[in-house]
Amino acid sequence: MVHPDPQSDDQRSRSVIVGIDLGTTNSLVAIADEKGPRVLAASDDAALLPSAVRYEGPVAAPRTVVGTDAKDRAVEFPHTTITSIKRLMGRSLADSTADLVYLPYTVIEGDHATARVAVPLEGGVRVVSPQEVSAAILAALKARAESVLGVPVNKAVVTVPAYFDDAQRQATRDAGHLAGLDIVRIVNEPTAAALAYGIGLDRDAKRNRKDESIVAVFDLGGGTFDLSILRLTPAASAAETSFFQVLATSGDTRLGGDDIDHALVALFTRELRERGWLRADTDPAPAVRRALKQFAEEVKHRLSDADDARIRIDVGDGTESRVYERTITRAELESISLPLVERTADACDRALRDAARELGASSVDEAKRAIDAVVLVGGSTRMPLVRRRVAEFFGVEPYTALDPDLVVALGAAVQASLLSGASTGSLLLDVVPLSLGIETVGGAVAKLIIRNAPVPARATEMFSTSVDGQTSIKLAVYQGEREMAADCRMLGEFHLRNLPPMPAGIPQVEVEFLVDANGVLRVSAAERRTGKHAAIQVVPNHGLTRDEVDRMERDSFTHARTDMTRHRIVDLIVNGRMDLKWIGDRLTKLGPKLEPAYRAELESLASSLRSMIDAAEHDWTSASPDAIHQAKDALDKASVRLQEISITESLRSEPGAPKV
Ligand code: AMP
Repeated sequence: MVHPDPQSDDQRSRSVIVGIDLGTTNSLVAIADEKGPRVLAASDDAALLPSAVRYEGPVAAPRTVVGTDAKDRAVEFPHTTITSIKRLMGRSLADSTADLVYLPYTVIEGDHATARVAVPLEGGVRVVSPQEVSAAILAALKARAESVLGVPVNKAVVTVPAYFDDAQRQATRDAGHLAGLDIVRIVNEPTAAALAYGIGLDRDAKRNRKDESIVAVFDLGGGTFDLSILRLTPAASAAETSFFQVLATSGDTRLGGDDIDHALVALFTRELRERGWLRADTDPAPAVRRALKQFAEEVKHRLSDADDARIRIDVGDGTESRVYERTITRAELESISLPLVERTADACDRALRDAARELGASSVDEAKRAIDAVVLVGGSTRMPLVRRRVAEFFGVEPYTALDPDLVVALGAAVQASLLSGASTGSLLLDVVPLSLGIETVGGAVAKLIIRNAPVPARATEMFSTSVDGQTSIKLAVYQGEREMAADCRMLGEFHLRNLPPMPAGIPQVEVEFLVDANGVLRVSAAERRTGKHAAIQVVPNHGLTRDEVDRMERDSFTHARTDMTRHRIVDLIVNGRMDLKWIGDRLTKLGPKLEPAYRAELESLASSLRSMIDAAEHDWTSASPDAIHQAKDALDKASVRLQEISITESLRSEPGAPKV
């Protein structure tokens, strides 16, 4: 007799709890299971579900269209498409008057002075509550989770802003109920963001660290800005859990990336007017304004990665070609955005003043110094200016490893898995579970932090270039025990750019790895002579289970000997080629000045090393690292005199440093 799956779908679904970020503009659903926290998406690029609901059909039995389609056709159906419903959840009509001017649909007063939406449909007007609109969004997320996971989903953890009052929280619960979801916990969005980074998950925190930590969560989206300051009180014993308390919140419900887009549109409009392509006395037509806003947003996004971006807008009227073309530099965008970004600093100041009272700090500066971690949330925190300003304001590098659009949903999923008991198999950090390093030329990994190092951990190492005139260095960060990058897991990569061209081996790049107490890894690289630097953050343990770590460790033992040999050969090839190039260059330059016998000796030693290296590169398995080492050593020794003769002997400052 065969045994059926001991866990029926029903049993399994009872333990599935998803995490939901029910946002003003976009919503997401995520789960944290044995594969780690991840957002559930219908397809790769569709993790965000626009929080837009369109009603259609007869008034007695309307249908709803939720998400992208509703958002994209909102202009076509302004009165039946409901967006930003979160602003009305649990609020009275009187509370919401400030928001009403921004909402294209009709808001009326319902029972107990609550805000309701009047939707014109076939045969009459249907009055819907904000809870029903939110329920349509939650139902779409529930359906998505069920289709990805293949089991019914009936429970969720849902996030709300820290400043939501009881009525707003209760409205969120009711929306869940209408959607067939039992909301087992409402979590503050900033708390979820902190949980996504593993802050507060370390049950042994008290043993290792101070009694409490203070976390600031900086959330700058498209239309709103929120700053929250939280106190984390770690668990006193293994039986208890750590908890977060909101000490202060502050923000601006009308400040976000949209304002930066509008400032760019104002710049374009001014310049179009200067060219006489737009009338000075009227605003551009709505279609033109929308197109300009779209260009502005695109340019803004590109300038988060590039130093400049080109725009080209055809504003021809059909009779004459008019092409508005322009390059915008990041510096220009930053000077336009600065006044808006400064407004976030004002709100941070206000929150710190409130937090200072709670913390017993005598000044804002003292409260600032108490902040242990700053977490970034919201798409606009991708802007380098925002990151710089936050770092400068708080005096702490903010956490940026996770996608700022996903971090709240991922944190909700982490909370959900804690509640369902599913998280016991996932890894909570006290030590670095797998070694961390960077890829060097030839594909080997130079390990900076070795597995089982206690956190926090820090290591630095010097690297240089392998090619003359290299102006950009790629740094690829790996995790794993194997010697070759191809056998490890890549965590991320970044570039150190804009180096002045220098001969190979001359740049001195100091690479620093820093794993903080929450397991967040920050890798930075700085070239000493020029002061150029770049950095990246990653969360190394995300998505790794105990089993995976164990398997990677076992693999490393199985392959230890061959891996070491291969690593050694790769390093010998890289360093040998550098030597051959250096000697070749000197021989070309100084050849005639050398005694013929010495020159012949060098050429013969070089040629034998070259043929060994060529053969090893072709097939490393039949190469002998000892033989290559000897040939390289013989050439190095013989070339000492050449070095003395060479007028550029000072050029090789660090011949042994691995090259990236
Ligand atoms: P959210 O409300 O969190 O979805 O954030 C949306 C805002 O983030 C919009 O104003 C976007 O233009 C902005 N945003 C998204 N990606 C980037 C980026 N790469 N650089 C700058 N702003 C961005």
